[in-house]
Amino acid sequence: MQYISTRGSAPALDFEGVTLAGLANDGGLYIPAEWPRFSEGEIAAMAGLPYAELAARIMTPFIGDSLSQDKLRELCAAAYGRFSHAAVTPLKQFDEQQWLLELFHGPTLAFKDVALQMLGLLFETFLSRSNDHLTIVGATSGDTGSAAIDAVAGRERIDIFMLHPSGRVSDVQRRQMTTVLAPNVHNIAIDGSFDDAQAMVKRMFGDSEMNGRFRITAVNSINWARLMAQVVYYFAAALQLGAPQRKVAFSVPTGNFGDVFAGYVAAKMGLPIERLIVATNVNDILHRALSDGDYSAGSVTPTAAPSMDIQVSSNFERLLFDCGGRDGTALGEQMRAFEQSKAMQLTNSQREGASGLFTSTRAGADDMASAMRWASDHCGEIIDPHTAIGLYAARSTELAKNIPVVTLATAHPAKFSDAVERATGMRPALPSRVGDLFAREERFDELPGDYDAVADYVAQRATESR
Ligand SMILES: *Cc1c(COP(=O)(O)O)cnc(C)c1O
Repeated sequence: MQYISTRGSAPALDFEGVTLAGLANDGGLYIPAEWPRFSEGEIAAMAGLPYAELAARIMTPFIGDSLSQDKLRELCAAAYGRFSHAAVTPLKQFDEQQWLLELFHGPTLAFKDVALQMLGLLFETFLSRSNDHLTIVGATSGDTGSAAIDAVAGRERIDIFMLHPSGRVSDVQRRQMTTVLAPNVHNIAIDGSFDDAQAMVKRMFGDSEMNGRFRITAVNSINWARLMAQVVYYFAAALQLGAPQRKVAFSVPTGNFGDVFAGYVAAKMGLPIERLIVATNVNDILHRALSDGDYSAGSVTPTAAPSMDIQVSSNFERLLFDCGGRDGTALGEQMRAFEQSKAMQLTNSQREGASGLFTSTRAGADDMASAMRWASDHCGEIIDPHTAIGLYAARSTELAKNIPVVTLATAHPAKFSDAVERATGMRPALPSRVGDLFAREERFDELPGDYDAVADYVAQRATESR
């Protein structure tokens, strides 16, 4: 399997290459040169497989020769063995039509564990082959940082530097990062906003002196391997609801468009998906893009669903590439113009290509709270604010009665207990496996919002690349 860039000029790479590279060197994102496809019979034969076994089957065509079958099975068993639920991503029923897919049973209680647990193992496997060392640099407003730290803590060939805006992440989110005391984990509280931290990380990716010394990479969802791992749970849920004979719809609380793009990939691979509902909060650039072709970024409004408070959705570029005829040169020009003006119109072919599978909904604060109350009052389920936006969108989308709709539950409600308590009057408790979080020792360094201070800090602690 070869991967090509959405902007047409970076070299094609194999799976090992795209996993270690992250972003393509022409500024684009990597995507498979062609979509692998399973027959109806092959999909039917996957029903009832244990999650790790299903994961290995779905990932095999994407991995090509980069891993042996035995090694792939071993990594899937290790990654998904760390989940606290034997089904890994259990499916629950709300009513005749509405279902909930719980993706938060990993170590840090958000769906990002599903992909990052696997990515950490892939990094380690590939780095030990080349005897190289990786320096992960990231900025987080919460969930990505803790999931990435958990996935790589204690690994010899990786150092991780995670910047968070000082005083602006929740106590649970901060402690999930800062109580990991492994020597390769470096938490930095930046005196500034998330955008300031993010800008410093972007600057470091373009800093030729730093890149000359260190192999610097990202762990956000621009990394193809993360999306690949997320395709698996679309299959897992649909198979339980009667696929391939029966079509299924999904409602996905969306920020960077990574999770819902994985659903699009599942459809390309032959899974019969009726609809993918893109659920946004008031930061609704994706809703505007999908409903009237207007992809223009405003400023971010903070909400109770902070992981969806995003104006520019990196992975949308992958959809525009695939739906718009896979013309990397044209898309490169379109994206560079967008980076200048922060606004663009989708082309007709991009709009038509997307409208076949996607619909979108925007949920305000009241919509979100009412969905939390409905789940609690009618089904006895406490859901988090992100999931509530997905459920609101699922319940307000017109679909035939025989199509089940699966809302992806992206975070455990205890991660956002204040917002849950405000809406439902109930305060969800942290699961016992993370229950001593508030008793553990914390370790992090505070740095001013100054690029040189951060670059010096990284340079003094990271290991040089070969
Ligand atoms: C990251 C995140 C999202 C958004 O996922 P994308 O792949 O960026 O669209 C939604 N909910 C939660 C809880 C998250 O952590």
